[in-house]
Amino acid sequence: MERKGLILETNCIFCKIANGEIPSATIYEDEEFRAILDLGPASKGHALILPKKHAANLFELPDETAGKAMILAKRLAKTLKEGLHADGLNVVQNNGEAAGQTVYHFHMHLIPRYADDTVNVTWTPGTLTESDKAEVTELF
Ligand code: 5GP
Ligand code: ZN
Repeated sequence: MERKGLILETNCIFCKIANGEIPSATIYEDEEFRAILDLGPASKGHALILPKKHAANLFELPDETAGKAMILAKRLAKTLKEGLHADGLNVVQNNGEAAGQTVYHFHMHLIPRYADDTVNVTWTPGTLTESDKAEVTELF
């Protein structure tokens, strides 16, 4: 499928939403991105930033798109936090089934947080072992 010079993945729901083939509650749109409200929000204002051009995940995302996505996340996060009087905001981005990704088109979650909410974006801290530290630092 090709539209306005963009290659879309035929069976990707976020390609269809990002490019306007499926309607969505859009809070922002430009040539390269659409930001929408999540259909299953973790909190009031939970939004998703979708690039219009398909990339399955962060590993496939072009550098230029990654940079623009983060700048857009910053702008939209500010408006959500101020406009909704949120107390904080999580930026969440899942890659791969093991990481909780369920839609395989890159997206960033903007999740406004409220002091008394029950949103759970947490983990139990482990311990940094000497062997893990050596293995990981040697990768770079
Ligand atoms: P993931 O788990 O892949 O990081 O996030 C996928 C998100 O997309 C979920 O929060 C889910 O609620 C949302 N979602 C899935 N399908 C649709 C849809 O058709 N429309 C909208 N607006 N959100 C969707
Ligand atoms: Zn897609």
